Amino acid sequence: MKRALILDLDNTIYPVSSIADNLFKELFKVLDQYAGSINMGGNERVNKIKDEMTRRPFQYIADEFNLDDRLRNKMIKVLKNMAYDLPMQPFEDYQHIRSIPLDKFLVTTGFVKLQMSKVKMLGIEDDFKTINIVDPEVNRQTKKDVFAEIMEKHNYRPEELLVIGDDPESEIRAAKALAIDTVLYDPWNKYPRAVVTYRADNFKKVAGILAGIY
Ligand SMILES: [Mg+2]
Repeated sequence: MKRALILDLDNTIYPVSSIADNLFKELFKVLDQYAGSINMGGNERVNKIKDEMTRRPFQYIADEFNLDDRLRNKMIKVLKNMAYDLPMQPFEDYQHIRSIPLDKFLVTTGFVKLQMSKVKMLGIEDDFKTINIVDPEVNRQTKKDVFAEIMEKHNYRPEELLVIGDDPESEIRAAKALAIDTVLYDPWNKYPRAVVTYRADNFKKVAGILAGIY
């Protein structure tokens, strides 16, 4: 029997694409300025970095693309101070999660100020018992550490939890490492081969999963 849900934020509760243009305008400007002054490996690479930035924490991308330290620091400074203050909407089927009468925990990776501003603009703060932001600029804590902390603090056994997210390499991997069941939310079938406990293209299915129908 499940007692609680752990949810990811970006691309799980709302689509990042819906805020990307406004959110990344300033950051892409900084990136483009630098791309003009240092060798970043051409336009194609710059565009690839931009694309990754809409999906993953910047620190990981900076490492992977071996970005120049000055560029990295400048971008992180901008990101640290960024907040999103325009209206945001959760995915339409998020209402099905909202109405599930279990405790819910939000665990998201990113800059604290920005992630908190999204939570506020989405109006989802009251849906969660706690909101946990894993910020690689603040400490080395991972999603797995936070999941383990939640289990310990609230006395949950792994089989009493369900982790719901869109990224096989992030929250899904962390949950697996702790033997927690997973739901991969993948409405566009981006990861057909991901090994998960359940797949969902609509949150309506989660109620069925909890009821033991799947
Ligand atoms: Mg996500």
